[in-house]
Amino acid sequence: MSVDSVFRTRSLGVAAEGLPDQYADGKAAKVWQLYIGNTQSRTQEYKSWVVSLLREQGARRVLDVACGTGVDSIMLVEEGFNVVSVDASDKMLKYALKARWERRKEQAFDQWVIEEANWLTLPEDIQKPGDGFDAVICLGNSFAHLPDFKGDQSDQRLALQNIASMVKPGGTLIIDHRNYDYILETGRAPQGKNIYYQSDLTQDISTSVLWVNSQPHMITLDYTLQVPQTSPQSQPEVSKFRLSYYPHRLNSFKALLNQAFHGKVEHNVYGDFMTYVPDQSRAPCYFVHVCKKKA
Ligand code: SAH
Repeated sequence: MSVDSVFRTRSLGVAAEGLPDQYADGKAAKVWQLYIGNTQSRTQEYKSWVVSLLREQGARRVLDVACGTGVDSIMLVEEGFNVVSVDASDKMLKYALKARWERRKEQAFDQWVIEEANWLTLPEDIQKPGDGFDAVICLGNSFAHLPDFKGDQSDQRLALQNIASMVKPGGTLIIDHRNYDYILETGRAPQGKNIYYQSDLTQDISTSVLWVNSQPHMITLDYTLQVPQTSPQSQPEVSKFRLSYYPHRLNSFKALLNQAFHGKVEHNVYGDFMTYVPDQSRAPCYFVHVCKKKA
């Protein structure tokens, strides 16, 4: 993995209205499945952690607010949860819809609900069951996809508040982000095996950081993936796509979550699925926040 940090200070010339779908050209969506691995793509560690946490909480009805191609949702449907999956990108949803169609004869898949929805308009886009879902998940570094065009994090606050509003009192939100503190401090992503995806594609990810008014504003990852040959005659393909993220720092993200739940939350942080102890020698790749909404 080559990492190249660019430090620039300029104002962003991006229209504030209408957030772009970074997956709209279909390039990332097409290789996402390959990038994250096969259909059993989550690592066992990831799967056991999420599933046991949801079972411990007694969750049955789960809302996946960033289902993408459906990787977490499929895992939960297979484990017997009653899942509603939403995403803002129809290009990503297309793969989830296809998976549901192919397995429609299985009752659990027949009952799987998939809708297009945006976090910024979530209460209008989906029907909340009664006082909410038992659990809401937003995983795979998804929330960091929401930029801060207005420069005051108001969109992120609104989105988190909408997401939190879907959790029933006593229910749980599980939301994650990459360890941006480490990336900003060192200019590179933490090394170590990716405990999220089992991808064996050769990959190169170069990282650039955009600073606005001396604050890290956006991190851009340029992915270059070697797509394997589909037949002996075909040429190996190189796929390039770019995704940009807002670099949430651990402490400020905790504060945002607390606000989203109006302070009525019991909050725990995990580093790569282990209780996070700040002075541990190995920096985790991902932080996972588990928020239990107080009744
Ligand atoms: N959880 C999946 C998807 C990760 S990709 C996985 O781990 O593979 C992040 C997803 O967030 C994308 O599918 C993108 O379309 C979605 N997303 C980004 N901004 C969104 C928004 N404002 N509302 C709803 N979904 C959004």
